[in-house]
Amino acid sequence: MTNEEKEAKIAATELLSATRPLMGDVPPVSLGVICKVLGIEVYAMPCSSFGAVFSRKPTLFILANSNLKPGRFRFSVAHELGHFTLAHPSSFILADGKRVQGDARLERQADIFASELLLPESLLREDLKRGGVSASDLSKRYRVSRQALDIKLRTL
Ligand SMILES: [Zn+2]
Repeated sequence: MTNEEKEAKIAATELLSATRPLMGDVPPVSLGVICKVLGIEVYAMPCSSFGAVFSRKPTLFILANSNLKPGRFRFSVAHELGHFTLAHPSSFILADGKRVQGDARLERQADIFASELLLPESLLREDLKRGGVSASDLSKRYRVSRQALDIKLRTL
């Protein structure tokens, strides 16, 4: 893991510990609570060209694609939260509705952040240690896609 990836993971862990008292029993992590604490409005609308974007102006907001399945939707919002928390530049949408491709390193950082935010390693390890849970149970418990879960499990 590169230093940038570690930085993303630490940022997610810090955000989780700051908001955990408000979140009640986790998992699943409440993105609603986290966005509220950070003062970020989340809007959902159907679109075909991007998962989610975020902006600091005119207000802090994340716009996410409501066509996504719940797990993918949550990951997209968490990814944008990563860009915000890690002080990356806002995303831009072009006139044709496509978003500007971000820097691959920043995208990777936002993905690592999202993965740790939704699937905190410490909680996941406890669940795995306890045993008797299938991957399908875990993806439901954490409200993530199987793909996001499988990727995370490979890093443990
Ligand atoms: Zn991104």
